[in-house]
Amino acid sequence: MAVSMTESRGPAMVEQARSRTAYNYDPLPVVVAHAKGAWMTDVDGNRFLDLLAGYSALNFGHGHPDLVAAAHDQLDRLTLTSRAFVHDQFGAFCAELGDLAGKELVLPMNTGAEAVETAIKVARKWGYDVKGVPADQARIVVAAGNFHGRTTTIVGFSDDPDARGGFGPFSPGFVQVPYGDLAALTAAIDSTTVAVLIEPIQGESGVVLPPPGYLRGVRDVCTLENVLFVADEIQSGLGRTGRTFACDHDDVVPDVYLLGKALGGGIVPVSAVVADSDVLDVLHPGQHGSTFGGNPLACSVARTVVAMLATGEHQERARDLGVVLRTRLDALVGSGIVGVRSRGLWAGIDIDPGVGTGRAVCEALMARGVLAKDTHGSTIRLAPPLVIDEADLLWGLEQLEAVVSRA
Ligand SMILES: *Cc1c(COP(=O)(O)O)cnc(C)c1O
Repeated sequence: MAVSMTESRGPAMVEQARSRTAYNYDPLPVVVAHAKGAWMTDVDGNRFLDLLAGYSALNFGHGHPDLVAAAHDQLDRLTLTSRAFVHDQFGAFCAELGDLAGKELVLPMNTGAEAVETAIKVARKWGYDVKGVPADQARIVVAAGNFHGRTTTIVGFSDDPDARGGFGPFSPGFVQVPYGDLAALTAAIDSTTVAVLIEPIQGESGVVLPPPGYLRGVRDVCTLENVLFVADEIQSGLGRTGRTFACDHDDVVPDVYLLGKALGGGIVPVSAVVADSDVLDVLHPGQHGSTFGGNPLACSVARTVVAMLATGEHQERARDLGVVLRTRLDALVGSGIVGVRSRGLWAGIDIDPGVGTGRAVCEALMARGVLAKDTHGSTIRLAPPLVIDEADLLWGLEQLEAVVSRA
């Protein structure tokens, strides 16, 4: 069949994706065919600068040569054993990730939501076995505006009507308090409280930063009350904020780190619960598991991610480019942007309603070759790959300026 060189293949693929898929996403109408670094190319050959980076799952960009090489090598050797047998990447991955986090033990899973679910199980079991909470009474304190994933238990303690509406009944055992309010959090803790589960920066909520002293306060009250501090660093961790963990900015060490997204190098889903043995040792064989968790391909790629983070260069880059990002965004406040929050190479931008919705801004950006994603109506989240060239970042921000300042 003769196909004209100029015929656009994208629209039919968008239509097929729309008509044959559950409507649980409303993607921008771009059909990506390949990508390298911070740049994606669609099926018609148009190039786009990726300022979302898979919600931070692509911290090291598309097709990073070290990550691709690790995956290729592992694909040829061994991809899956299940945890019924040990494989040659497993122990090393757990030790290397544990060392990066300064913790003794690692429990690998696949998706972020699974890491959160795992932490909930671990915290409850710790509560019964170690803290002495009466059976089935364990409670976990969470924050308003949270995003921890999409399973039924997790959406049950969300306050986003879209996330939870119509999906009940929900698991009991969660108490929600306002994010950043230490007095409310302290008041919510009682003798049945086993954990405080929070994001050190709320990503999905629009890159909401904790008030100064909040994370330190959470750490102190958890220590005082014998409660586990579980930090969901699935989006904030692994270099995004300019430090390995967002908690590092406050010199705070949680009892449990939850990691995901960037841990898989943008190649495979890899998540992990990382903690010391006094916490994770509450699990015994048969009490938790995952067919794919800690598989050889995942471990091989994630070991490379850990090695890349161990040098500190990506964190430094996120810090340096974060200053560039923040300076440019601050200059737009008052001309199309009403507020900016950022840490490292991660920003939430509140768009002036007079300019249009976040979605409309993202569509206008797309027309200019820049891909970003709105969240909660009028906010745009920017999370460029940490490997982005400074010149490309500046070009992308010029496109944003052109879109928002036309009002
Ligand atoms: C993305 C995310 C999750 C869920 O991760 P999935 O891999 O999508 O299940 C959990 N917590 C936070 C903070 C996230 O950003």
